[in-house]
Amino acid sequence: MSFSSASALAGALLRQEVLDLHAYHVPDSSGYIKLDAMENPYLVPPALRDEIAEVVAAAAINRYPDPGAVLLKEKIRKITGLPEDMALLLGNGSDELIQLLALALNKPGAVLLSVEPSFVMYRMIAIFTGMRYVGVPLVSDTKIADTGAADFSLDLPAMLAAIEREKPALVFLAYPNNPTGNLFSIEAITRIIAAAPGLVVVDEAYYAFASDSFIPHLGRYPNLLVMRTFSKLGMAGLRLGFLAGSAAWLEQLEKLRLPYNVGVLTQQVALKLLEHHEVLLQQAEQIKQDRAELFQQLSRIDAVQVYASEANFLLFCVADAGAIFDGLKQRGVLIKNLNGTHPMLKDCLRVTVGKPEENREFIAALQETIIQSA
Ligand code: PMP
Repeated sequence: MSFSSASALAGALLRQEVLDLHAYHVPDSSGYIKLDAMENPYLVPPALRDEIAEVVAAAAINRYPDPGAVLLKEKIRKITGLPEDMALLLGNGSDELIQLLALALNKPGAVLLSVEPSFVMYRMIAIFTGMRYVGVPLVSDTKIADTGAADFSLDLPAMLAAIEREKPALVFLAYPNNPTGNLFSIEAITRIIAAAPGLVVVDEAYYAFASDSFIPHLGRYPNLLVMRTFSKLGMAGLRLGFLAGSAAWLEQLEKLRLPYNVGVLTQQVALKLLEHHEVLLQQAEQIKQDRAELFQQLSRIDAVQVYASEANFLLFCVADAGAIFDGLKQRGVLIKNLNGTHPMLKDCLRVTVGKPEENREFIAALQETIIQSA
């Protein structure tokens, strides 16, 4: 079959929603200082890497993994301080869990609601699983004057109105939010949980860098789940995330989990790393300190407006994001250009907090680029 007939056939057979989607774009980062994907820039110390090598050498990769990931779940329970009566469900990254939730709840006409701007996969997964996506804008600086709210905070009246109107089966709130970096107000989120007729998932992908969590609130609401990933804590390459909440929900969702979604190596290496959880937490602490330093440095640049963040990245806006992005790239630094992804992010960029020397190179490259483009 020729290529053109294969593409005609794909065009005829595939769902329109799939044809209309753009694949999640991951740029080639080889050779760059990589500050585009919210990764932890640190490997673990050599002695721990040796322990991991032993674990990998001994792993039974000829066998399927433990389908219940019992040891890993026990460890996660402990380090998370999960309330006794709450259950866990593991995913191949939290992306997989977003998809699993959408698959479970997409009755005909069901709505997935989130805020905008936020993590793009909520919308993308809603669309390709056949849910109707509704995005409620966050408060923008033009609205601050009349509401007294902070920039990128939840627009509670708009959220409550949308919940009343759309009756969403599923609501995602990233806490802290990506790409804005802020924590929404607890009061606003609890009002949303109380008003929502469907499931509310608080996505704590950046919990390691944040000052608050909804884990202690689990059990207070029958429609609340908390989702986390270990990607930002130094395990992006392992692909491991979890949902926490009442067994009544998770036992049902478990039916949709593919039997061996978390592989042998992920289970065993993650377990080893979590036995040394303090090492990862110390790295997160370092990243938080460096975030404060980077924030200060960005604040001092006149041509930059930077936003406070409780995550491992900073959102900042400039006069021409495209020119700054290109200038940084020419100087060997890769960050994320958000211009064009949402009207509120016009001329905005997102930089992941790297190692101190990477952050210095980023700032130097930014200053050079700004001077050159002035
Ligand atoms: N939620 C949020 C808010 C994110 O920013 C990300 C990663 N960018 C994820 C979930 C997915 O993380 P992972 O699939 O690596 O667990």
